Amino acid sequence: MESAPQQSPQQSPLQITVEPTSHPVSPDRLAEILASPGFGVHFTDHMYVAEWTPDKGWHDARVTEYGPISMDPATAVLHYAQEIFEGMKAYRHDDGSVWTFRPEQNAQRMIRSARRLALPELPVHDFVAAVDALVREDEQWVPDAAGEKSLYLRPFMFASEKFLGVRPAKHVTFMVIASPAGAYFAKGLKPVSIWLSEHYSRAGVGGTGAAKTGGNYASSLLAQQEALEHGCDQVAFLDTVDRKWVEELGGMNLYFVHDDGTVVTPELSGTILEGITRSSILELCRRLGAKVEERRISIDEWRDGVASGRITEVFACGTAAVVTPVGTLRWNGGEVGRGEETGPMTQQIRQALVDIQYGRAEDTFGWMHRVV
Ligand SMILES: *Cc1c(COP(=O)(O)O)cnc(C)c1O
Repeated sequence: MESAPQQSPQQSPLQITVEPTSHPVSPDRLAEILASPGFGVHFTDHMYVAEWTPDKGWHDARVTEYGPISMDPATAVLHYAQEIFEGMKAYRHDDGSVWTFRPEQNAQRMIRSARRLALPELPVHDFVAAVDALVREDEQWVPDAAGEKSLYLRPFMFASEKFLGVRPAKHVTFMVIASPAGAYFAKGLKPVSIWLSEHYSRAGVGGTGAAKTGGNYASSLLAQQEALEHGCDQVAFLDTVDRKWVEELGGMNLYFVHDDGTVVTPELSGTILEGITRSSILELCRRLGAKVEERRISIDEWRDGVASGRITEVFACGTAAVVTPVGTLRWNGGEVGRGEETGPMTQQIRQALVDIQYGRAEDTFGWMHRVV
């Protein structure tokens, strides 16, 4: 028998209560943080919280003062990792307005992740309203457009029931927190080096690779550590069946530009995370008239293609860094790569995306969502 997904009673849009903090950040401290925000270290004045139970569905939605949450040691997520998350950004345009990029795509992906992790689905409109409510309350935390800064948004959902039995939790919490982020490449684009993981996997067939869940990251950490030990910035994972098909990095999708101009990305296999940056690049390339392919690409095609010049550019993509050139690929016993140059196609795709996100190019796709 097929197991039933977590059902919520049919609901009208969640009412959000706003409880503004009585001690927001001082203007001086905020200016100091926004001048050099780093990544994921400073958090805004507020957070969004909502609760779910089988009988009440989603309820008690509020934007409230940012702060620690108290948890019983038996809270299910701490033991069985029933958790999912999203990652997105709010961008300030030159006229002062604030926008998010395809937020309904994050909402839909969170629904797909929720199904896989047996968590309740949060309707798309409630997800978008949650993010909007937090960004509005903490608008002053959205950095100005100069230098590709943004407000990074982290929606997440976890099993908050106090129970050590193994089954989907009957109390679930959804939250959104926000953190100002600096330009990923403060000193211009710098290609990353990639370590090929030949022992470790990120996700297997039938597993959770296509869901955005913390467990996938937990299982990538040791491989990432191995990459650092070999002088590489990031790790690339292969499929777990044939151990030869290129999947993705720990948190970014991959693209390969060929000498005839064809742009190729590994097809969705069920073990790859479907990045919104990845999907947007597919659409962008079609619009630019480039030939794009979603297909399997083997590790030998990558190695031999770069060595022979058949593959002219490799790049990784994701919300945090947008598009990152890949310099070298290293494995136990060898390496190939083009060192420190950033290819023209990588540069063009990156610029096109960033220009839409910061309102410097017309948004002909209708991707941007105005918040403030
Ligand atoms: C989030 C994520 C990506 C990139 O997705 P975007 O929506 O483009 O940010 C790629 N791979 C993994 C494993 C991820 O978790």
